Parts: sequence; structure tokens; C-alpha cells
Amino acid sequence: MNKPILFLFDLDATLVRTGGAGMLAMNQAFTEYFGWQDALSHISPAGRTDTSIAHELSNKYQGRDMAEDEMGNGFARYLGLLVEKLETAKNFRVLPGIRAFLEKAQAQKDYVLALGTGNLEQGARIKLEPPDLNRFFPFGGFGSEAVVRSELLRIAVARAEDATCQKISMERVLVIGDTQHDIRAGKEIGARTVGVATGPYTTRQLSEHQPDLVLENFTQILELDRFLSGF
Ligand SMILES: [Mg+2]
Repeated sequence: MNKPILFLFDLDATLVRTGGAGMLAMNQAFTEYFGWQDALSHISPAGRTDTSIAHELSNKYQGRDMAEDEMGNGFARYLGLLVEKLETAKNFRVLPGIRAFLEKAQAQKDYVLALGTGNLEQGARIKLEPPDLNRFFPFGGFGSEAVVRSELLRIAVARAEDATCQKISMERVLVIGDTQHDIRAGKEIGARTVGVATGPYTTRQLSEHQPDLVLENFTQILELDRFLSGF
């Protein structure tokens, strides 16, 4: 293998949109377990780790971080509900150009694909199961492993180094996501960053956070190839 390029993909609104299934499942779990109604609508969860969302809500409703057993029980219920909600989600979709890009990238010897997502690992796997995208991502860094997003990115890089038996320099890591949180976390670890406007933010809004590349979506293969050729 030449020096690898590691792609760390955010999940929600970068790879897929769950048609609200993720939000519904988490809201219902928190209502059932804590009695909080429609909790996620009072914060901005996009781009955040599931664990940081849980702590923020706990602080808002009960004035302290969420205890470990509460988190375990609340999230166990969430994961069960997530499977149910995905089965009935009407607008679940893989975002434009993603599948074609992943297939092409997987065939490329020096490209390494991994997840860098704030989702719990099990939640990520459940969301990627219906469209059969798990096979592109043998490993990653997840919200169940870190509260802070840059930490889960570092975990993903370490796993990629183990998997390839190579040291991966941060300039050859690409953090791809739809929010400023992805861009900021990528910059924090010294990676290059790609903002993609398939989530709540436009290309112009993402540009304000100065990612190395901004895309409307992954059908912009020419822009992406041009960018990658500069590596
Ligand atoms: Mg996202």
C-alpha cells in the first residue's frame, strides 16, 4: 500500500438521512425513561455525540450530568426503538453520490474508509444496516467511546493505523461531515476537512468554518478528485 488516505465519515445527514427515525427513537426513550417530553427539540443535536446530548439534556432537566446507569438504560431503550422506527421510516435515504463514491473508494488500494460519528456504535450499525452500508466501514470512532467529537476521531485514526499497520499522518486524514462540529473536530486533530451541505447547513454556512473543501453533495466527484489529487 502507498501511504494511505483515511476518510472519516460522519453518519447522519452525511451518509444517510433516517427520515426522523433517530430523533423519534431518542425522544421516545427519554420520555419513557425520564419523563422528558420531546427533549431533542429544545437543543441542537446535529453534529453532536449521543453521549454529549444525553449529558446536556440531563443538565437541563435535572441539573447534573447523566449517571452511567441512566445512560445505559436510556440508550438500551433508544436502540430498541431505533430498530422499530427505522422499519417504518418513510423518508430514509442514502444521500446523493454516497454509494457510488464508497464503492469506488473501496476499490482504491490506498483509500481507507472509516466512521467518525457521534452515534453510539450500535446505533450507527443499526442505521447503516437497511441500506447495507456497514460493509464499507469495518471500524470507526463512535459517540459511545467519547463525549468529545475530536476524541472519537482520534480513536478512529488509531484503529486505521492498527488495520493498515502504518502510521497515518493527520494531513492524510479527511474528516467529512455536514456540520461545523465535524469541521471543528477535524481541525482539532490536524486533519483536512470536507463540509457537505446535505444536512441543516448550506455550503455558504459551512464555508464560514473554513473547511478545506465544501461540497453540495457527493455527486461532485470532479471537485473531490481534484482535491484528492493535491494530497
Ligand atoms: Mg451529521
